[in-house]
Amino acid sequence: MLEQELLTTDIQLVRRLNRDTILGLIRERGPISRTALARLAGLTPATAFSIVQELEQEGLVREKGIGPSQGGRRPMLFEFNPQSRAVIGVNIRSAQVLGVLTHLDASLRVTIARDYELEPNADVVQLVKEVIHELMAASPLPPEKLIGIGVAVPGLVDVDRGVVVESRNWGWEELPIREMLAQDFDLPIYIEEDDNALALGEWFFGAGQGVSNVVCVKIGRGLGAGIIVNGMLFRGPDNAAGEIAHILVDPEGPRCHCGNYGCLDRLVSAPAIAERAIKGLKQGAASSLRTRLGDDLDRVTVAMIAEAANAGDRFACQVMEETGRYLGIGIATLVNLLNPDLVIIGGGVILAGAPLLESVRHVVKLRALPVPGRRVQIVPAKLGVEAPAIGAATFVMLKERVLPSQGLARFI
Ligand SMILES: [Zn+2]
Repeated sequence: MLEQELLTTDIQLVRRLNRDTILGLIRERGPISRTALARLAGLTPATAFSIVQELEQEGLVREKGIGPSQGGRRPMLFEFNPQSRAVIGVNIRSAQVLGVLTHLDASLRVTIARDYELEPNADVVQLVKEVIHELMAASPLPPEKLIGIGVAVPGLVDVDRGVVVESRNWGWEELPIREMLAQDFDLPIYIEEDDNALALGEWFFGAGQGVSNVVCVKIGRGLGAGIIVNGMLFRGPDNAAGEIAHILVDPEGPRCHCGNYGCLDRLVSAPAIAERAIKGLKQGAASSLRTRLGDDLDRVTVAMIAEAANAGDRFACQVMEETGRYLGIGIATLVNLLNPDLVIIGGGVILAGAPLLESVRHVVKLRALPVPGRRVQIVPAKLGVEAPAIGAATFVMLKERVLPSQGLARFI
């Protein structure tokens, strides 16, 4: 690269970073004056003024009244304008495609969910397209305000290429999902792995706001984690980081499809919890679930067990406490390994509330090393079932630079 080109690139990079800083400050501290922004960002007033002007022209920032005088003229104040753009986030779930159309503060405008049967020939990508079309039709904003589409996909995802490298339950291998969607939509499209999307959503808009070191554990049909280290999503070179399903928890436990025994996945994933509950019920355990299901005990789901536990059903509480103990062993390993400030637990299990969470907290306190064990907080996810879809939308906002990043996350 020629020296002049290098210099131009450097200038662009610095301007981008300054813009991120100013946008971040306005979002967090607004309404705020341009002089205060310059001081807080360590920039000259001229630079800060020109960046605010640029952001205002784009509509991302708007005037919000006049501040008190600091000795001279009273300054104009500026605030972030989250309603200036809309984003679509879609999550491919195990039997449902769930999409949201949201503003830049993740306030939901429209949610659309379509169920499907997970069969070998299910055309899930077509269903994703239909959900996106419906969301676009339902958008109250003009089309030019829609900045992009994010899709949270289960499995191993190549984020740069927009390809699902492998997704076992869906039978996908090297599925060029971004290219397939681009045939229908002339918008920037980003593909993200669903556990990472969940972590991004919770980090920016849910339980993890403002925290730099977060592990977000999702319990569903499978088990996964999104890891944020020093304000940056940790992906690993193959986007394969966070695969916690096969942490060994109980060598005497049930056999896992990976060939080992007692993996976390076989003890705390949704099917594993249901399996334990069904076994207990068939052995004659007394429970309100029996009344609810009659003879059809095999229909029990994690959500049913979690709700029963939350309502005080003793058997369901025992199942959730046991789940919490296994999960706690796995999380203690993560706590020792990563020293996070916060562990967020997501998925239907959190409906159980205290019986699960208290059990996890207790085991982590017992098993993690004292210093990281004292620091870590363990909390339930806040965004509910929409979290990965909101996270996919968050990924679009970051990539399209309409959302100021937190810390080093600007480089994700
Ligand atoms: Zn395993």
